[in-house]
Amino acid sequence: MKNIILIFLFALTGLLSVNSCKQNKGDADDTATAKDTVESEVKEVEPTEPEATEFYEPVPPKVNPFGQNGTPTDAIVLFDGTSLDGWISSSDSTEANWYLNKNGSMTVKDKAGDIETKQHFGSIQLHIEWKSPAEIRREGQNRGNSGIFLSGLYEVQVLDNNDNDTYTNGQVASIYKQHTPLAMASVPSGDWNTYDIIYHAPEFDAAGSKTKSGTLTVIHNGVLVQDHVEIQGTTEYIGWPKNPAHGNGPLKLQDHGDDSRVSYRNIWVREL
Ligand code: MG
Repeated sequence: MKNIILIFLFALTGLLSVNSCKQNKGDADDTATAKDTVESEVKEVEPTEPEATEFYEPVPPKVNPFGQNGTPTDAIVLFDGTSLDGWISSSDSTEANWYLNKNGSMTVKDKAGDIETKQHFGSIQLHIEWKSPAEIRREGQNRGNSGIFLSGLYEVQVLDNNDNDTYTNGQVASIYKQHTPLAMASVPSGDWNTYDIIYHAPEFDAAGSKTKSGTLTVIHNGVLVQDHVEIQGTTEYIGWPKNPAHGNGPLKLQDHGDDSRVSYRNIWVREL
């Protein structure tokens, strides 16, 4: 304890002498700065008791990670396999017209168009499962192509890339035409994949200019494939990303329009 007091007094004396020198220069602003410095330096004295670095507030809420159907108890379920009531057509807001299957999944109905959630979200944690058909048809971007659009604008690619190469910034788990995934972690065609996605929405000022980019983290079948990457803007097929101002938006699923037959199941989000 004696040593601690000596160290403290030594630090305080040194800093006060700095303060004194600046006062001699007659600069009031510098005096305030030196005072602040003294306080911050005192705070940085190494704690010697464990309690000095232990906090009891805030208390995190309790969540059962294995609630109904294995969904966290604080999650918003967007699709549990029983209906498409929470979804609409993206093109005309009529009811979602994809196939609802008896096994608790839904499948893209070719040429029916994209569908999206009625509910809109900002930043979210998303869990979603998808599979491409076991029966292989077509190649490249036309084999099992769908996609998951955060805020309805930013696509995490869904694609059957098994023995099916394409441009890497458009392959499975890419942020389409912006970020190539760190790994290709797909299961065999016809098996279910999981995506766990952390999405932080971009921010805009009152004039509509982007003040902070959005970010995406994607875990594909338990493998980190997008590590907090910056969303450059909308994920365009042709052209550069665009940055229209927006607030909350839907979660959108893509009908790529080439008989992709991609299925989805067990979709839930937690708002961040
Ligand atoms: Mg796609």
